[in-house]
Amino acid sequence: MTLVVGLTGGIGSGKTAVADAFAARGVDVTDTDRLAHALTAPGAPGFGAILAAFGRGLRRPDGSLDRASLRRLVFADAAARTQLEAILHPLIRDAARRECTGWRSPYGLLVVPLLFERGGLADVVDRTLVVDCPEDEQVARVMRRSALAADEVRAIMAAQLPRAERLRRADDVLDNAGSPASIAPQVDALDLRYREMAAAAAAIAGRGA
Ligand code: ADP
Repeated sequence: MTLVVGLTGGIGSGKTAVADAFAARGVDVTDTDRLAHALTAPGAPGFGAILAAFGRGLRRPDGSLDRASLRRLVFADAAARTQLEAILHPLIRDAARRECTGWRSPYGLLVVPLLFERGGLADVVDRTLVVDCPEDEQVARVMRRSALAADEVRAIMAAQLPRAERLRRADDVLDNAGSPASIAPQVDALDLRYREMAAAAAAIAGRGA
């Protein structure tokens, strides 16, 4: 089995930018947000289950899921959120495990925004990499990329682990407080280390076989 590096970090910390940098170095990347999106497309298992649970009114005229209404619904109603998570998390976990098994690179990245908060994929991950930047910077970046107001971003952050706690749990940290140009040299160094770790693990597995 390939070495699985779990990539996490708060909203707007730069997970996507960092994952893209690893992918550019030939590293296989599985993104659970992308899986969640695919699992709720028309015809996918999550789509029917969500309509059955929350009503067919969540279907848009073009037949797709009304994601904005669903997001509002679960944001306002904790029981609905729990119900949605009970539908989606097992599907995402299974899909993520399946995809990781098909990786071809010596190690791969599993991007899980709420890796520490939910824990459902903790047993799949060999090592954790946290993308970090100051909280004010998270707010500024998310506001630049979306139509969210500062208090809406802070409400999302309040449902995530505090920065200090996330850093405490990290095996490795990518410091993304600086400019985007500072991502590449850190990814180069981590990539080298992960390739060495994967090679060492493969050598041990080979000896055991
Ligand atoms: P996440 O996936 O963690 O939510 P993204 O990678 O999408 O975060 O980054 C959030 C936004 O901030 C994006 O618009 C991205 O282009 C931008 N961004 C990422 N890293 C930096 C950086 N070091 N400096 C400035 N902007 C950044």
